[in-house]
Amino acid sequence: MLCQPVAGGEYQFRLLGGGDAGCSAAKAVAGAQPHLDEYRIRPIAADEVDFAATDAEITLHHAQATAFEITGGAVFAAIALGLGASHPARMPAMSLDDKTPLPAATLFVVATPIGNLADISARALDVLCRADVITCEDTRSSRPLLDHYGIRASLLPLHEHNEREAAQKVIALLGEGKRVALISDAGTPGISDPGARAVAAVRAAGFRVVPLPGPSAMATALSAGGINDAQVLFAGFLPPKPGARRAEIEKLKAVPAALVFYEAPHRIEETLADLAALLEPQRTLVVARELTKLFEQIAAMPVADGPAWLAADANHKRGEFVLIVSAPPPREGLDAETERVLSLLLAELPTKQAAKLAAEITGQPKNALYQRALELKDL
Ligand code: SAM
Repeated sequence: MLCQPVAGGEYQFRLLGGGDAGCSAAKAVAGAQPHLDEYRIRPIAADEVDFAATDAEITLHHAQATAFEITGGAVFAAIALGLGASHPARMPAMSLDDKTPLPAATLFVVATPIGNLADISARALDVLCRADVITCEDTRSSRPLLDHYGIRASLLPLHEHNEREAAQKVIALLGEGKRVALISDAGTPGISDPGARAVAAVRAAGFRVVPLPGPSAMATALSAGGINDAQVLFAGFLPPKPGARRAEIEKLKAVPAALVFYEAPHRIEETLADLAALLEPQRTLVVARELTKLFEQIAAMPVADGPAWLAADANHKRGEFVLIVSAPPPREGLDAETERVLSLLLAELPTKQAAKLAAEITGQPKNALYQRALELKDL
């Protein structure tokens, strides 16, 4: 990626990939947009960005500010950013290693944006442009992204209902030396999305699998959620049926880690109600909705207040959700060493015997240890 100053104190990024033979033919279609459109991004373009005004927002007009042209396998992008003349930026000239050929007979697992199309990585675009085939869950979901960036590889459906058969097709393509990219509707494949089975089959067939990291709703929510627990458990979607959902929450309740859930708008009400009813009321709930989109919202509250927050505004129920619940409060009376001893004994002995021995070793009350042993056994 090259960062070049252009007239008026603005900066232009040009991404080069797939050989620079066609550089001069690259069309920098972008024009700096002086106003905010749907997308507002902050000035993070390389790790050496040096902005005097750190809060200055870069404006990026979604419809016009990025454009691609594919010329003989080369990809060009230009993003013009209206930084304003008073915000001098220092950015290193970076380029993708455009001399490196994309390895053949390889499956590339590519993360794609969860809302804001500008969140795709330079490397992901390079690989998607050079792939022979792209597998996607639903062509209707992936088309806008691919069209937006002028990517025209042929598409192969790979979704939860055909993943095994589609994996065999992918293996056949790889056998012909093809480069296949796997994407999901949004975010990182294999995270509450298809992909894992295909990846396992491809690797078992002896082909290389290369991950291209990028957006995931889980990581995005955690990054801005402000939950500072040492451990995090990603629980994905809770079961849709009320009984199974509550049982799952009960099971997760004692896990000494922050919990991360995905949730859809038609179930958010029931889920927040169950979390409020079943978890310790002082645990913090972060609701992260519509991340990277126009109506992005990240709200933190005691988990007991979740239902009231949802009821306060009809808009709170709209969109896609990530929920984070902070780890349970420390249990009174059982310190970390007691937990460790009990866990070790439980791995080898029946519950009662483990609790009894743990009580003798640690001096803690036998009953408390027995209760805790039952909980640990259920995890
Ligand atoms: N593979 C994706 C990832 O890496 O995040 C997740 C796919 S899963 C089928 C879709 C769920 O992810 C949504 O129901 C929602 O819970 C969460 N999600 C996806 N995009 C989101 C966004 N922009 N804001 C909040 N949650 C989102």
